[in-house]
Amino acid sequence: MKLYNTLTRKKDEFIPIETGKIKMYACGPTVYNYFHIGNARTFMTFDAMRRYFQYRGYEVTFVQNFTDVDDKIIQKALEEKVDPQEISEKYIEAYFKDAESLGILKADIHPKVTENIPEIIDIIKQLEDKGFAYAVEGDVYFNVSKFKDYGKLSKQSLEDLQSGARIEVNESKQNPLDFALWKSAKHGEPSWKSPWGEGRPGWHIECSAMVKKYLGDTIDIHGGGGDLVFPHHENEIAQSEASCGAHFANYWVHVGYLNVDNKKMSKSLNNFFTPREIAQEYDLEVVRFFMFSAHYRSPVNFSKDLIEAAKNGLDRLYNAKNNIIHLMETASGINAETFEGEAWVNQLPTYREKFIEAMDDDFNTADGISVIFEMVRYINSNITVESSKGSLQKAYDILVELCGVLGLLDKKQETTLEEEVEILIEKRQQARKDKDFKLADEIRDELKAKGIVLEDTPQGVKWKKA
Ligand code: AMP
Ligand code: ZN
Repeated sequence: MKLYNTLTRKKDEFIPIETGKIKMYACGPTVYNYFHIGNARTFMTFDAMRRYFQYRGYEVTFVQNFTDVDDKIIQKALEEKVDPQEISEKYIEAYFKDAESLGILKADIHPKVTENIPEIIDIIKQLEDKGFAYAVEGDVYFNVSKFKDYGKLSKQSLEDLQSGARIEVNESKQNPLDFALWKSAKHGEPSWKSPWGEGRPGWHIECSAMVKKYLGDTIDIHGGGGDLVFPHHENEIAQSEASCGAHFANYWVHVGYLNVDNKKMSKSLNNFFTPREIAQEYDLEVVRFFMFSAHYRSPVNFSKDLIEAAKNGLDRLYNAKNNIIHLMETASGINAETFEGEAWVNQLPTYREKFIEAMDDDFNTADGISVIFEMVRYINSNITVESSKGSLQKAYDILVELCGVLGLLDKKQETTLEEEVEILIEKRQQARKDKDFKLADEIRDELKAKGIVLEDTPQGVKWKKA
């Protein structure tokens, strides 16, 4: 499998550190508001990557953090006259709710900054001991000039970076590029005791601490949205590699922006839509289909027209699935009861191979979805009321399997007639056991109305279509 690596700026062959296992970390949300569908694009991409790696047999450990201490959270708490923790807890709960409605599975671990303060302090101490950090009146800064690889991810030299940087008036750092590891406490803000006095962590250090604690010194994949390459991920590399001396992450994956009129969807531009808003008009599975219709690195423009087109695309997949289910219930040709597949079914696995080929090429979900549509056309042109049970089942299984890798088509689980009948028969048996013969008769009538005739035999209840 090939994965585009921001560190090398090319598609690299993916080789995990430990055979069959993947350690993966994605930078999660700052929880001061509902997330928007731009954020969702990034969360969804990592969710689907993880699902795909698992589909390919890897054991994946996936960590996604919550930034629950931050200027924006503190600001919002001040505005609403509540404790910052109240804000972060509210939006963590909202994250899980919205993520679920978008089909984003929970990560294996969702660590929070507030639960990792000792680990954060430990790394800062190591950096200070090794001469990579300095303290000024309760603040601690990373000394960028001491880390020779600074700029290796964003491909910028220290000189270039320095020429554009300024020190803010209220900052006590030595060099404009130096960044805060620890910030001394300000009145009314959440703070913790540390060797440098009361304070709170800077933003970047939390990920270095959490990656180390939950996954180890070196991990396979680290990622986030493209806006995080610089400075966040550059700083994470500096902190982690300077403190422990090991290479930090082997593959850096960055997701392209979801834009509106070619501008990044963001809270600050106020051009965002939340999943909650979209859900008033569309099933959120449409948003998932929309995102995966493009390659994760391409910028994508969001518009109502494109969402409408995505809805039509997803409807076609559901129609294909429902059509197969319908035929499973009604097929009546001479082969209807045969579990053997017909010759056309032998072609189906080639679509799986093509799908895997697309996904193995830097996770190309756009091509993957095209393959699924090709397969749907093939299935539609072959299935008829004459199809055998085996053929229909095979077509159903592969459609659900490939869509399932992307977390699609697994909603609206329609029950087949078979399942419905089995449930009703069981209910009737129970009613008879309970000597509720009235209910038992009613169920028999309900089944009769569906064209199902029951036969009590010594082996139990048998049923057939009338
Ligand atoms: P934040 O809560 O702002 O830290 O963002 C959470 C995640 O969403 C980060 O990985 C960001 O890089 C990502 N992100 C933010 N805006 C967008 C966007 N418009 N398109 C894609 N990803 C985004
Ligand atoms: Zn991070």
